[in-house]
Amino acid sequence: MSRSREARDFADGFLTRAGDRRADGGQRRICLLIIVAAMGLMRSAFLAGSQSRWLRERAVKYRFVHRAVSRFMPGEDLDAAIAAARSLRGKGVGSVLTYLGENLKDLDEAEQVTRHYLEVLKRAKDAALEAEISVKLTQLGLDLGPAACERALMTLVERAAADSTWVWIDMEGSAYTDATLEIYRRARGRSANVGVCLQAYLRRTEHDLRTLIPLGGGLRLVKGAYREPPDRAYPGKRDVDTNYFALATRLLHREARQAGVRAIFGTHDSHLIRRIEKGAQDANLRPHQLEFQMLYGIKREEQTRLAAAGHPFRVLISYGDAWFPWYMRRLAERPANVLFVVKNLFAD
Ligand SMILES: Cc1cc2nc3c(=O)[nH]c(=O)nc-3n(C[C@H](O)[C@H](O)[C@H](O)COP(=O)(O)OP(=O)(O)OC[C@H]3O[C@@H](n4cnc5c(N)ncnc54)[C@H](O)[C@@H]3O)c2cc1C
Repeated sequence: MSRSREARDFADGFLTRAGDRRADGGQRRICLLIIVAAMGLMRSAFLAGSQSRWLRERAVKYRFVHRAVSRFMPGEDLDAAIAAARSLRGKGVGSVLTYLGENLKDLDEAEQVTRHYLEVLKRAKDAALEAEISVKLTQLGLDLGPAACERALMTLVERAAADSTWVWIDMEGSAYTDATLEIYRRARGRSANVGVCLQAYLRRTEHDLRTLIPLGGGLRLVKGAYREPPDRAYPGKRDVDTNYFALATRLLHREARQAGVRAIFGTHDSHLIRRIEKGAQDANLRPHQLEFQMLYGIKREEQTRLAAAGHPFRVLISYGDAWFPWYMRRLAERPANVLFVVKNLFAD
């Protein structure tokens, strides 16, 4: 029996056994797609799904999907994100705010995003949150040309610097790596308050890191969340983890500190985090010199532990209604999350 046939039968059986007569055809199809992904195609299926308009248009209509998404974001509007940041601040945890959206096709929309982020910076300042922001360059119009995108970024960086806070540049798929780093390098030449994300799964990152460290600035190391071919990215998790640790070691090295790099370790991998903490101790770094970030809603106990251990620690809070591709990437990171989606299907 083919894998997709097997999955269809499984989905039908699952829904029937669960006695769910309310699930309509659309819900069944979404459930089926979810189960197909969970039954073997896993990561790559979710990453392919993140680019599917068909799936996006349908998935966003269902309340059970919204309920599942709410595990990773406090709400769709800025008020919800600010409230979450305020609550984290009460626990001694900082935040980074990110307004979901990517690959905008219209400059007016990109300008609206810039205005929105200016409002975010203002609201965060008024509430004394010391929140930072994290932006995707394709949300600032990179697909429409680098010049307007760079102008938009600099507007945000300058405002953030005036408010003594930071702008982080997310790293997207590898088609954007060169353009993103080029814009980052120029922004870094003009401001101290800007950082960029680097992905440990990319084979090129070792070289990129070597050339970026002398610039100082912010470098946020993550594993990487996009679908990449094996000639660009290590396909095996073990290789990605090994590379992450090698890159982290470089970021903990005296050379990076002397260059003034603000290194951020963006991971939920407890084993890796402990190795990095040990590496920092061996390099005679104090807890306050080792900074971590995690995503909202993931590994909460580890978040509490890191903050209590005296590490500067921030939670990246995503919000907005354009959550579909971002949420599919969260499912790809941990296919077991799909059980949460299915559970919500029956929670009405
Ligand atoms: C602050 C921050 C910023 C990021 N920015 C970018 C970016 O700009 N570009 C980019 O490509 N990627 C970005 N990412 C995502 C990153 O690339 C990884 O996809 C993501 O962090 C999962 O990898 P991991 O390091 O947690 O390790 P993994 O080995 O994937 O996970 C380790 C453990 O963490 C838990 N976990 C991980 N992900 C999930 C999840 N979705 N749901 C539930 N539990 C989970 C599980 O227990 C898992 O076993 C960012 C991540 C963080 C934390």
